[in-house]
Amino acid sequence: MKHLLWFRSDLRVDDHPALNAAQAAGGEIIALYALTPKTWQSHEAAECKIDFIKRNLEALALALAALNIQLYIEDMDSYDLVPEKLLAFCQQHQVSHLYFNVQYEIDEQRRDQKVQALCEKNRMMMCCYHEQIFVQPGMILSEKNQPFQKFSAFKRRWLIFADRLGLPDLPEFDLRARMIQETVFWPAGEGEAWQRLQIFLDQKAGEYDQWRDFPAKQGTSHLSPYLAQGVLSIRRVLMELHRAAGTYSFSELIASPGYGVWLNELIWREFYKHIIFLFPKLACGQTLQAKFKVWTWRQDHGQFQRWCDGQTGYPLIDAAMRQLNQTGWMHNRLRMNVAVFLAKFLKIDWRWGESYFARHLIDGDLAANNGGWQWCAGTGTDAMPYFRIFNPTLQAQKFDPEGVFIRQYCPELSHLSVKAIHLPQPHALAKYHES
Ligand SMILES: Cc1cc2nc3c(=O)[nH]c(=O)nc-3n(C[C@H](O)[C@H](O)[C@H](O)COP(=O)(O)OP(=O)(O)OC[C@H]3O[C@@H](n4cnc5c(N)ncnc54)[C@H](O)[C@@H]3O)c2cc1C
Repeated sequence: MKHLLWFRSDLRVDDHPALNAAQAAGGEIIALYALTPKTWQSHEAAECKIDFIKRNLEALALALAALNIQLYIEDMDSYDLVPEKLLAFCQQHQVSHLYFNVQYEIDEQRRDQKVQALCEKNRMMMCCYHEQIFVQPGMILSEKNQPFQKFSAFKRRWLIFADRLGLPDLPEFDLRARMIQETVFWPAGEGEAWQRLQIFLDQKAGEYDQWRDFPAKQGTSHLSPYLAQGVLSIRRVLMELHRAAGTYSFSELIASPGYGVWLNELIWREFYKHIIFLFPKLACGQTLQAKFKVWTWRQDHGQFQRWCDGQTGYPLIDAAMRQLNQTGWMHNRLRMNVAVFLAKFLKIDWRWGESYFARHLIDGDLAANNGGWQWCAGTGTDAMPYFRIFNPTLQAQKFDPEGVFIRQYCPELSHLSVKAIHLPQPHALAKYHES
């Protein structure tokens, strides 16, 4: 019996259901990661995200080697070619059982359906597991068996369901075996993700509600790239969150200041994964709310480009876009602001913005990105109504009161007083309205 462990967006060995199952079955295990540059291109994956994946693969190879498992990294071109190439790989290595964890997006689902058909035809066992989120999609439905499209209703049901599932009881995390040394801002590997989690939980999570909206304050976890690539298990995160908060049930945890507010964000992550699985049309550029199908968005390339470049003349918007362009990451409060600005103030197609984010974010994740954009544009779940708009000047005064963040990314404004730094810049504005 030879097992193949196929890694996708679960680049870790900790709390890895497919790995655990293959180990429990006994026999030899080999592992595979299929590079798919053509699909990454068509999915508009950012270069920094691909680089992050590749660096994490090196860390994963080391962690697997410690378990006597060899990781093969094969170029398989695109999802279209993966099923055939995967089968050829299995035949070459005489694999009898294929193990992997489920992905919920439409292209990934289609690819896996083809893999399943090939496995059946070639009498190979295929075993798959859920791990990406705590409560798997399809489990949280209304009394009429319908998916929830409002977060608050989803969350109420999620808390009940999560308490029924109970707290995970995972073995101690072995940090020493998982540390690699990298001196970049987003170092790869499970050890790094674990340390970030611990530092955040010990030093920041208790006050998350107070600081999370201030981009100059570093009040959030910066775990999004690790969660998006599955370098960190969500069950591990939830277990550690309970430990830090001293709680034993999710209904207790959600009421805990700081920790409960952070849990709320993790439930948003679950919500959008459920939504992308249950409404696959969202991955094809469609709005969740049908009435927006016929909405006419402006197609102003000049203004769009100035938004991309951080040259709108609105200091908070410009600083935010430059943070994205320079670091591959943007603070959540700013993601909301720039998205609302593009979709509701400029009335430019939110899909342009969604695509720009995908092409630049290190944590780019279809479910969260699409969910966030549709929420901001007013076309998605809950949805901020289309007439509700963030005022970028008031938002800047509230969330960057001293202008520290703006000064960091817009040095040309750094000489301005605290009173002036948040205001739209007349010179830039004139240029901006030319088009
Ligand atoms: C327009 C828009 C686009 C977005 N695109 C992405 C994306 O491509 N990838 C991505 O991971 N997040 C996205 N988000 C959500 C959020 O902005 C980021 O998850 C967050 O800023 C990451 O920083 P953090 O790890 O410090 O978050 P924390 O505040 O520490 O939150 C912890 C974790 O919860 C999850 N999370 C937090 N907020 C949200 C949310 N609103 N929706 C879904 N999950 C959330 C993330 O996994 C995050 O790492 C988007 C939000 C908006 C408004």
